[in-house]
Amino acid sequence: MAADRESIEFDVLFVGGGPACLAGAIRLMQLAQENAVELEVAVIEKGAEIGSHGISGAVLNPLALNELIPDFADRGCPVEQTVNGDGFYFLTRHKAYRMPIVPRQMHNTGFLIISLARFTRWLGELAEEAGVNIFPGFPGQEILYGADGRTVVGVRTGDKGIGPDGQPKGNYEPGIDIHAKVTVLGEGARGSLTKALDEKRGLSHSHMPQVYETGIKEVIQLPENSDFSSRAENDIHTLGYPLGFDVPGGGFIYQMKDNRIALGYLTALCYDDPGLDPYDMFMRFKRHPFVAEIITGGKVIEQGARTVSTGGYYSMPQLATDGAVLIGGGAGIHNTPALKGIHVGMKSGMLAAEAIMAALQEEDYTRATLDRYAALLEASWVKTEIYEGRNVAAALSRRGFGKWIHLGAQYVTKGRGFQDPMALEADWQTLRPAGARRDGDQGAKIETDGTLYVDKLTGVYLSKTMHREDQPCHLVVHDLDLCVNTCYPKFGSPCTRFCPAKVYELEEDAGKRSLKINPSNCLHCKTCDIKDPYRNITWVCPEGEGGPGYTMA
Ligand code: SF4
Repeated sequence: MAADRESIEFDVLFVGGGPACLAGAIRLMQLAQENAVELEVAVIEKGAEIGSHGISGAVLNPLALNELIPDFADRGCPVEQTVNGDGFYFLTRHKAYRMPIVPRQMHNTGFLIISLARFTRWLGELAEEAGVNIFPGFPGQEILYGADGRTVVGVRTGDKGIGPDGQPKGNYEPGIDIHAKVTVLGEGARGSLTKALDEKRGLSHSHMPQVYETGIKEVIQLPENSDFSSRAENDIHTLGYPLGFDVPGGGFIYQMKDNRIALGYLTALCYDDPGLDPYDMFMRFKRHPFVAEIITGGKVIEQGARTVSTGGYYSMPQLATDGAVLIGGGAGIHNTPALKGIHVGMKSGMLAAEAIMAALQEEDYTRATLDRYAALLEASWVKTEIYEGRNVAAALSRRGFGKWIHLGAQYVTKGRGFQDPMALEADWQTLRPAGARRDGDQGAKIETDGTLYVDKLTGVYLSKTMHREDQPCHLVVHDLDLCVNTCYPKFGSPCTRFCPAKVYELEEDAGKRSLKINPSNCLHCKTCDIKDPYRNITWVCPEGEGGPGYTMA
């Protein structure tokens, strides 16, 4: 099999077809043109198309876009709406209170509301026009190392046509070895290759652990008589109900084109109650009278889920190593108090491009040279933005009133607060045994109607998720006995709740429990890889083109 494996050489390989990689690839081609250099640049993307795995809030601060493509409006950038006003609400179980002050980081007026799927597709077209080779449907399966065993020299893409037993079938096609002088990992939060590289090279050993939030989002078609478009604020954020005070998270509603809205709810994965179900929180948010009134008569037309890395500055790993750099959400580059990652991710890609161009000219791809990227980031507005929120995730993860004292102090001191840095705990460590859990607000099951309030499986259908059924399971559960003999008695199998796609189910047959896995439902959100309390689940890339098929998210 290995003898048939094709090998291709590029100057630079971007892994991931999101905004960070595409902005980086476009910037690199601009620099190549300015320097009259010919470059071979490639982007590989696991989704069937560029944008098909793109999901985010998404309010875009246009700072990086303006720098990269100043005439973006003339070049057909797909903008849903411009933010005309910000509304920030505190929800109790039955009421909504408009907060008199919107935190300065959340002033979005003038920013762009986009569909990340469409925006990313458009960036992909511009990258192709600039000469970038784009390969959708090619997941990076494995990092290739040089003779020294440590320098990254490229990526092997996933094989196709492997059966569930791991054996090649008649339609077997081996993956391709894509060699590059520099490999740029921009896989988004909890990228599988980024995780593998981090484990091998210890890129985050001396840093705070990364922490995450799981976001579930829908695009809802409002009825013709909806008055949402006449509101003075088309950018709404909420906190409070249903998560309450202890667990960070909250909701958002953004106006889109054609009488549609984007609506979503984020739950921080630092929660301690193994009975908590982020999808249930999302449904409770939708059923709140304030939200229900906005969406009444509407219909869900797309749903999806994804984790966001929210740890901030102190959780960012070492950004460069020999032969590779890390960009975007996979490197934890996120402005947490602003709830924004797209613009800082794009800028990180653009700065990486500048450092890579210098490395190409010097023909030196060692960490020492590629570290210029980290230096450029430190000197840029990205650092200024994310540094201010350096302790926010840690403050938010605190229980009780102390959280608000810390947040207030950080707000006034531009991030320093009472403790700097404030310690963070990894999300897999925070669950408490099921017997000790708080029941919180979870009580009666939220009713579904199949149209506006849909269950997890209908949500999977609405995400257009597809995987070839006849392939090895891409959710690697390392010890199935541990699931039933240790995790179930202690935590009540939290994977059956934290997965927004009902991939994990506990079955009982003649008194014997077993974990059933439905990998074809997987939305590639990565929650299981992050939150499993025994780190017993590893998410690996399924066969190329598998996963969601977002078009509007
Ligand atoms: Fe997300 Fe894991 Fe469920 Fe897939 S299996 S949808 S990655 S939690």
